[in-house]
Amino acid sequence: MSVAGQPGHPLKVAIVGAGPAGFYAAEALLACGLEVEIDLLERLPVPYGLVRFGVAPDHFKLKSVSAVFARIAQDARLRCFGNVALGRDVSVPELGALYHAVVVATGTDSDRRLDIPGESLPGVHAARDFVGWYNGLPDCADLDFDLDCESAVVIGQGNVAIDVCRILASPIERLRRTDIAGHALDALARSRLRHIHLIGRRGPAQAKCTPKELRELGTLPDWQVAVQATDLQLNPASEQELAQPANAQVARNLDILRDFAARPVQDGRRIHLHFLRAPVALYGNERVRSVELAVQTLTGTPGAQQARPTGERTTLDAGLVLRAVGYRGTTLPGLPFDHARGTLPHRDGRIIGDDGQWLSGWYASGWIKRGPSGVIGSNRADSADTVAALLADRPCLQGARSGRDGLHALLARRQCKVVSADGWQAIEQAESERGRQRDKPAEKFVRIPDMLATADSASRPETART
Ligand code: NAP
Repeated sequence: MSVAGQPGHPLKVAIVGAGPAGFYAAEALLACGLEVEIDLLERLPVPYGLVRFGVAPDHFKLKSVSAVFARIAQDARLRCFGNVALGRDVSVPELGALYHAVVVATGTDSDRRLDIPGESLPGVHAARDFVGWYNGLPDCADLDFDLDCESAVVIGQGNVAIDVCRILASPIERLRRTDIAGHALDALARSRLRHIHLIGRRGPAQAKCTPKELRELGTLPDWQVAVQATDLQLNPASEQELAQPANAQVARNLDILRDFAARPVQDGRRIHLHFLRAPVALYGNERVRSVELAVQTLTGTPGAQQARPTGERTTLDAGLVLRAVGYRGTTLPGLPFDHARGTLPHRDGRIIGDDGQWLSGWYASGWIKRGPSGVIGSNRADSADTVAALLADRPCLQGARSGRDGLHALLARRQCKVVSADGWQAIEQAESERGRQRDKPAEKFVRIPDMLATADSASRPETART
């Protein structure tokens, strides 16, 4: 029997999810020196996942990595299957039978909750949904964020919290020069916000945001960052954390915070940074009106300090509450799931079942594998590790597989409307054209039927082949 990966017998791999982890897995496979046939499945009609729908619209440099992914999509050994979802259009057993290997790179499509009273009140949202809304994610297009209030509270001090705060406080003229969704631009233009509170349950030395993002808050015209100098006095364990070379970014954050605290206080709109405050309840009748916070103190050894309540409480007014306390993945029908971590259980990227055995041929990569951490580029090494495991398993991944032809036939039987790489390009070109008419770099489609119609009019969808 010929070995998959040799000339004339390609190693057939399906990658599920056309975000950073999926594209980096494709890149590693394309560079492995074997004959490969790679099919990249994406549930939406448009690619790039987190880069299109997660990265803030004003972070142009981060978004520009999509050009790298667009080049990968043009490789003749790779085929894109947009608008095809695992579990909806093709099942786990079906996909597993078609390919030698499947890499699941579906990211995290849910978020962690606070589990406190009042969390279901209108006006309380996941920051993830707010990010999806301003980035034109179809799932979030119909959400409504009431900005007709003076005070917003953002729970968490990671980069997502900083992103949503910056977008809330950015001058509308600055946002107009981005590809932010039109509905979000209109709503933000009407915002009455004057106070945004960023709540950290631990101290300034434990804030998860990075210096570049923190510093940007201080550059927003008409907004002042309010930090209490007393909040920047560190306990001995935090001083020890700061002295670690690995914590250089934390030291830079502290310098930035000290600079904010030293700026003269002016009238006007404020971003308030609160430390050692944990939300305990949200209050309101028809919608959220206030957030109760428990004052915290740090206990534990350097690097492992936890917040404990002191018994003291404070309250903040809030017409809008965004929880930015971390993302999590969701189950995929037919695959095991680690509910505690919100990820696929795996060993070195190989997906393992409840019995601890490898689900032969199945791999995970990116945030669905390791949880939501790191920057876009972190997924490159992560996907390379997963692909290295896959290639090491090649002796077990043999046998005849119909791969792409089999997938085409199955999707045609189900009358799926598949969007190809040409369709993706057509959608992007149409979005640029829509943007030109509004003096923006792009005006994204936010409805799936509009995306499909645009892809359809420009390129023949691949379902035609049976
Ligand atoms: P994150 O970095 O893990 O931050 C989560 C924040 O929520 C932390 O401050 C955490 O505090 C807090 N938190 C968690 N549970 C809480 C609770 N029950 N009550 C109060 N606070 C709670 O997560 P993220 O901001 O969602 O970011 C995810 C990843 O994407 C990160 O790697 C981030 O750097 C990356 N990202 C990068 C960019 C960028 O490069 N510009 C932009 C956005 C996101 P504790 O530390 O106490 O747990």
